[in-house]
Amino acid sequence: MSALDRVLERLDNVRAQGDGHKASCPVLAHGQGNGDRNPSLSIGTDAEGNVLLKCFAGCENEAVVEALGLKMVDLFEHRNGSGYVREGGGGSHTPPKSRSTHQPSDPTTLENYAAYVRLPVEFLKDLGLAQIHYGGEPAVRMPYPDGSGEEVLLTRFRVSLTGKPKVKTKRGDKHRLYGLWKLEEARAAGYAFLIEGESDCQTLWFHGEPGVGIPGANGWKQEWASDLEGISRLYFVVEDEAGEACWEKLAATPEIRERLHRVELDGAKDVSELHKQDPEGFSGRLANA
Ligand SMILES: [Zn+2]
Repeated sequence: MSALDRVLERLDNVRAQGDGHKASCPVLAHGQGNGDRNPSLSIGTDAEGNVLLKCFAGCENEAVVEALGLKMVDLFEHRNGSGYVREGGGGSHTPPKSRSTHQPSDPTTLENYAAYVRLPVEFLKDLGLAQIHYGGEPAVRMPYPDGSGEEVLLTRFRVSLTGKPKVKTKRGDKHRLYGLWKLEEARAAGYAFLIEGESDCQTLWFHGEPGVGIPGANGWKQEWASDLEGISRLYFVVEDEAGEACWEKLAATPEIRERLHRVELDGAKDVSELHKQDPEGFSGRLANA
C-alpha cells in the first residue's frame, strides 16, 4: 500500500483538491475541540510519494498522525535502494545504502545528512532541522526547543557527517537534553530511551519511540534529572565505550538511579538497526542493570 493510501483510508470527508486531497482534520482538539466541519487538512505528496500534511487550523503533524493511529514513519514511502528502507514484511530487499559510502569530505547538507542517517528530509524539517552555512561550509542546524516546543533553548550544528567533531554547539549556549518537548509523551508511555547524540534520537522518534538525547562529549549532567521526573522507566542505550562512561554518570544520579535500566545492543550496531526489528523482539532485549 502506498503511503498516501495508508493516510487517505483513515480520513473522513476526503475530496480531491488541486493535485492532492483535503479531508477533515482528525485531531480531537482541532477548532477548540469543535472538530473540523470544513475540511481543513491538506494532503499532498512529494516527488518520492511521501505524504505531506498541513492542517490550516495549525494542528501539529505529529498530532494528526497520532489521531490517525499512525506513526511518522507511515507518512513515508518505503523503497529499496535510495531513501528510507524498512525491513520485514516479506518481498525482496536491497540492503540500505551503507554509511561507509559517505566520505568525511562530503558536504554536510541537509540532504546528505538525511541520507547518512537514513531518515526522510521532510521528517527532519518537521523537527526544525535546516541547512545553513557554518564557517563558510554547509551545516545542519538542530534546534533544542523547551518543554512547550515553542522556545529554542540552544542550537547545535552538525558540521560533518563522519569527521570529528561532528557536532558543534552555538557559542554561549548551555547544553540541555534533546527532546524536552517530547517528554510529555514519555510520561504517558511510562518510559523513555536515553541516548547519546541527536541522530539516534531522531531515529527513535521516527519509529514512534519516546526518546531523549544527551548532547555533547561530556555527557550527562545531574542537574538534568528534574527534566525526567514522572517517567517510570528510563532505558539507557549503551552503544560504545563512551556510552559506558555516560552510564556511570547516569547510575550515580540519585534521582534517577532507581528507574534506570540499560539496553544492550547485541546483534544490532545501533538503534537505527534495532528499531527496524519487530517491537516484541526489541522489548525482549531490555536488560536490567
Ligand atoms: Zn487540525
